[in-house]
Amino acid sequence: MVKLNKDDFNEHIFTRINNLIQDYKLIKEGELIAVALSGGKDSILTLHALKNYQKLLNFDLVAISVDEGIEGYRQHGIDSAINNAKNLDIELVQKSFNAEEGFTLDDIYSDFKSACIPCGVFRRNILNKTAYELGASKIATGHNLDDEIQSFLMSFARGDTIKFSKFGPELDVIHPKLVPRIKPLWNTPEKEVGMWAVINNIDIHLDECPYSHLSLRAKIKEFLNTSEDKCPGVKNNVMGSFQKMLTFENDINTSLNECEVCGQPTSSDICKACELKNLISQNCEGHICNK
Ligand code: SF4
Repeated sequence: MVKLNKDDFNEHIFTRINNLIQDYKLIKEGELIAVALSGGKDSILTLHALKNYQKLLNFDLVAISVDEGIEGYRQHGIDSAINNAKNLDIELVQKSFNAEEGFTLDDIYSDFKSACIPCGVFRRNILNKTAYELGASKIATGHNLDDEIQSFLMSFARGDTIKFSKFGPELDVIHPKLVPRIKPLWNTPEKEVGMWAVINNIDIHLDECPYSHLSLRAKIKEFLNTSEDKCPGVKNNVMGSFQKMLTFENDINTSLNECEVCGQPTSSDICKACELKNLISQNCEGHICNK
């Protein structure tokens, strides 16, 4: 790899992000963009990159953090989110599972095969509701190139081809209550995100979630990193195949209904969050573990 000094590296990483935003028209003038800010390196870079992009385009930023309630882990992330939002003069709206749903992830995770199942469902739900209430036109997430490749393989592994419609740097508006997502780091490798945080001495949350080892994502991440070490180029090849596949027309039906219980957008009659809350309230075990 070519040696870069700090300024060159920052220009390299921000230029690529700026180009992606411009090429895909991820942000339009006058929009309010809500950054999903966990305090990890990816979401923190997303916040800094969009603040930097405000030099090129007139739009507004707000950040949203969601405390899932993971004892001994999440608070450091929240602290990093608070510090970075404050340093960049961006409003941070803080939400939590406990305040919104009446339980923490620690309270309910054991009902599931992986804590990531309820974690992802309730976090997405809270983020969407909050962004919608704030009047944000898009939610910017910190998904990087490695995340995207992992998600692609996870969908393959699960036979969940409907998720293919969720790939790419932006998701279309498919329901007025579903705030569309953009991924400004979509083509930024995870390694470079880490390098950016280190060489700029950015306050980020580096700890690993205590539940992450149980997830399919962690296993696929390890597989991809090992494969890349042994056969450099594997990740790029997977991404290339994936992009070619997405050029084929598909007939995935992405129309949404409104949840009969809470009114949030859903592809079923009842949204995933309400379905899980119902199961949690029944203290149901076993059969939901295989969802
Ligand atoms: Fe949630 Fe899983 Fe991420 Fe931990 S690793 S924060 S449980 S999604």
